[in-house]
Amino acid sequence: MSKRDYYEVLGVEKSASKEEIKKSYRKLARQYHPDVNKEPDAAEKFKEVKEAYETLSNDQKRAQYDQFGHAGMNGGQGFGGFSGAQDFGGFGDIFDMFFGGGGRRRDPNAPQQGADLQYTMVLDFEEAIFGKETDIVIPKEEECQTCHGSGAKPGTKPTTCSHCNGSGQLNTEQNTPFGRVVNRRACHHCSGTGKIIAEKCTTCTGKGTVKKNKKIHINIPAGIDEGQQIRVAGKGEPGKNGGPAGDLYVVIQVRKHDFFMREGDNIFCELPLTFTQAALGDEVEVPTVHGKVKLKIPAGTQTGKTFRLKGKGAPNVRGYGQGDQHIKVRVVTPTKLSERQKDLLREFNEIAGNNSIEEQDDSLFQRFKRAFKGD
Ligand SMILES: [Zn+2]
Ligand SMILES: [Zn+2]
Repeated sequence: MSKRDYYEVLGVEKSASKEEIKKSYRKLARQYHPDVNKEPDAAEKFKEVKEAYETLSNDQKRAQYDQFGHAGMNGGQGFGGFSGAQDFGGFGDIFDMFFGGGGRRRDPNAPQQGADLQYTMVLDFEEAIFGKETDIVIPKEEECQTCHGSGAKPGTKPTTCSHCNGSGQLNTEQNTPFGRVVNRRACHHCSGTGKIIAEKCTTCTGKGTVKKNKKIHINIPAGIDEGQQIRVAGKGEPGKNGGPAGDLYVVIQVRKHDFFMREGDNIFCELPLTFTQAALGDEVEVPTVHGKVKLKIPAGTQTGKTFRLKGKGAPNVRGYGQGDQHIKVRVVTPTKLSERQKDLLREFNEIAGNNSIEEQDDSLFQRFKRAFKGD
């Protein structure tokens, strides 16, 4: 089944403002929330709406989506510049909106999305160009198998905190010069969880989760570049109270290459030529990331001249073609000459005459000469 357009899902125009998107999302989220809507496809619709909102409410993701469509999001794995954590709070926002949560405090018993995780992956220059599949191992909180997440010793159950009646919050009243102020703060008897665990599970010491090294398969797309990140949906920390897991962000760093340099999809390098090669012309072999390529150097090639090898750059990470390799020539003046070589050069100079520079049909030399005349 093809994926529906995010704007269509939210029922807004492409030019919709952030406010319009948010409004429409809230309306639809309320309509399809699985706790409210018992139709069989409600959960699916809710997920679709949530995903659309997650993308369109984030400026960077929206721009990416506008430009590349679903292809840019790669079925749960998206690429983009480094943007840090998501600004979407998961189910919590919706519950706030249902129960008029006001403020940022949430019902501790409401489903909560797990935290996002970040992993930095260092790639070799070529690995970034060709992509790779790899497994990474990250320490991750997992539901404790002994207590199945309750945090209570097997055979016992957490009880509702009597101080806050399970809300996780306590109101404290304070007299200030401005009048009486009521503060809501996390209940310190239950640490804001709303539950008291009399006998803690010994495996997780009551946390309900244990840290485990988890192997995750990552598909690095060809053409990825420094600073870009791959979002692996649902591979972050597990959610609480049945909420969804967070996401894993793999941030890419690329090692420098000692010959190639990359800018976007194009690769740059400098080609050293002897002055005889430059003067007489030559055919040389040039390394590219795709293997050696023969390059014809025309006679009279100057330092700074650039050649382009079409399609020998990096593939576009979104699958839009392939970059080029740009080769900049640098003529290297010999520093160690034998006596015989020096003699030949002196002879060359005599034949060329001391005016050889002036005879060059080159605007640089013309400008160079004019600069002296102006003295
Ligand atoms: Zn446990
Ligand atoms: Zn409490």
